[in-house]
Amino acid sequence: MRPFYCHNAPRSSLVMAKLFAKIWRTGIVTEPLSIEAGRTLDLARRIEDRTRRLLGRALAIRQVDAGSCNGCEIEIAALPNPIYDCERFGIHFVASPRHADLLLVTGPVTRNMEVPLRKTWEATPDPKLVVSIGDCAHDCGVFRGGYGVSGPVASVIPVDAHVPGCPPEPADILAGILKALDRLPEPGSRADSRTGSTASRR
Ligand code: SF4
Repeated sequence: MRPFYCHNAPRSSLVMAKLFAKIWRTGIVTEPLSIEAGRTLDLARRIEDRTRRLLGRALAIRQVDAGSCNGCEIEIAALPNPIYDCERFGIHFVASPRHADLLLVTGPVTRNMEVPLRKTWEATPDPKLVVSIGDCAHDCGVFRGGYGVSGPVASVIPVDAHVPGCPPEPADILAGILKALDRLPEPGSRADSRTGSTASRR
């Protein structure tokens, strides 16, 4: 059997040594959190406390783009990014409405998305919450009057809280989620019928 010999071993060792030297010279380059990021994390902690109390577990969110320009999605996508890392507070984005507690809906509802949005809402188990994100979701915003626009989100499904802005910032989105969670009854209260709480909003 021929002995194994790697011709690149000395070279790769040199590369690694240079890399470690560079890391050593550069040090930590992250910046202190901004005030806005601090506010966002404070809201995320409050959501974590509330969902643990109300649901006894993490909060599962399904995001639905009903026709937005994707500006709102960029802000929503910031929530699980390395700056805010909201997953550590039990704020999860899920792929299926069947696994979701809350729908985050953006954009004016286009004619093509009217039925899928309604089906998504119907597929979400009770007690479900809906938060509409951005000016377009509220009154169609800059797309109002467009031939492909069906209407605001509230004209298709019940909305528990709205977050204004074009686009709203991550902290505003979390504040909207917190506001929607306030609509869930406290565990053990007479209003805690869970499956019936949403039906009354239909
Ligand atoms: S609210 Fe603004 S950012 Fe959000 S979908 Fe409408 S135009 Fe785009």
